[in-house]
Amino acid sequence: MKELRVSTRSRTELVDITSEVQKAVADSDVRDGTCHVYVPHTTAGVTINENADPSVREDILMELNKVVPFQDNYKHLEGNAAAHIKATIVGSSETILVEGGRLILGTWQGIFFCEFDGPRSRRVLVKVS
Ligand code: ZN
Repeated sequence: MKELRVSTRSRTELVDITSEVQKAVADSDVRDGTCHVYVPHTTAGVTINENADPSVREDILMELNKVVPFQDNYKHLEGNAAAHIKATIVGSSETILVEGGRLILGTWQGIFFCEFDGPRSRRVLVKVS
């Protein structure tokens, strides 16, 4: 298992981690199998979406922030209830097929770490098997 570190700079942010995950795959001795990307946090997640046009990730965040507003009389008193809800909507793991030591991703697909309660220093776990 490999651990990646992600330093986020905003309260909500999608960070492209595709090349770091690909490096973890290349560094493993697995040529054909699966790559599990897991985010061990309750206010962050991981998703796969378009990494060609950066405005796609801005639109995703804009709409998530509308669906789950930062303030809404939440019962969780830590002040980050919206981040917990967004993390559950997005999910905390992705599985990507690996062939020939490469991630099998579509032409426009990238892997994004999803920050919902930043800025923070975060961990992403990658296991190739
Ligand atoms: Zn909380």
